[in-house]
Amino acid sequence: MAKKKNRRGNSLKNGFSKLAVSLLLVAVSYIFANYIYPHFSGIETISEDGRMQVHFIDVGQGDATLIVTPNGKHILIDAGPGSGELDLMAYLKRYEVKSIELMILSHPHEDHIGGADRVLTSIKTEKVLVSPAPGTTDSFEKVLDAIDATGSAIEVAIPGAIYDIDGVVVHILAPAAADEENLNNDSIICRVDYGKAKMIFSGDAEKEAEVALLAAYGTKELDCDLFKLGHHGSYTSNTAEFLDTMTPKYAVACCGEGNEYGHPHSEVRKLLSERGIQLWRTDKDGSVVFLCNGLEFEYIKTE
Ligand SMILES: [Zn+2]
Repeated sequence: MAKKKNRRGNSLKNGFSKLAVSLLLVAVSYIFANYIYPHFSGIETISEDGRMQVHFIDVGQGDATLIVTPNGKHILIDAGPGSGELDLMAYLKRYEVKSIELMILSHPHEDHIGGADRVLTSIKTEKVLVSPAPGTTDSFEKVLDAIDATGSAIEVAIPGAIYDIDGVVVHILAPAAADEENLNNDSIICRVDYGKAKMIFSGDAEKEAEVALLAAYGTKELDCDLFKLGHHGSYTSNTAEFLDTMTPKYAVACCGEGNEYGHPHSEVRKLLSERGIQLWRTDKDGSVVFLCNGLEFEYIKTE
């Protein structure tokens, strides 16, 4: 009996130690995959660690944001000015962007879509989302020609529409209608969710568009962790009310070094610092990159 008991005791002990070893292995591989590997490996290659990458690319005075989903699919929000298109193409090549599932062109101003025709003709792009703005600019004509030539699908963004690219979900919030007078206010405003982590992109939408957005939505829809400042950080956007509804932890100003507009404006920088919102800016920091595990964003130094 005693022997039997011991044997059982031993096998129980063995079972426990095997379990402990397996748990330890699981814990070690989790820590390695999530915390150690990304730092050693940098993010030169496609993400395979379950994290989303967000690249606010330095294209001079303009916007271009690349989102890489956890399985290496791509969303490009704006494509910078024509003057930045070589930098943009080099950046996309460096990160091995061979296809784009969704390209969002916030509005038809050159500093947002000037590089789009080059991207479209160089990288296979499935769908291009445009705002309902009257597309009368030369840059927009070039985009339409490139879409015609490449066969990408084109769609007008409508509030309420949702695009799920590999678990990264784009919610279109605005504009509800075109503003013929001010193309900035025609900017597509969208919230991009990955798990519980949220970002808001508002193109160059100005105060009036922010007021309309606040009238249509509340904290539930506008709460976010990261905000790409409206209109390159201009005081004509980024109102206190908007910031207080979104309560972001981080803000990014996409603007050129020594730009003639003085973006991001001191008024906006003051509003951010009063609220403890950390500001990153492409004119000073170069391309700004975050990794996101579905809960929070982590800034990664790449340059
Ligand atoms: Zn702009």
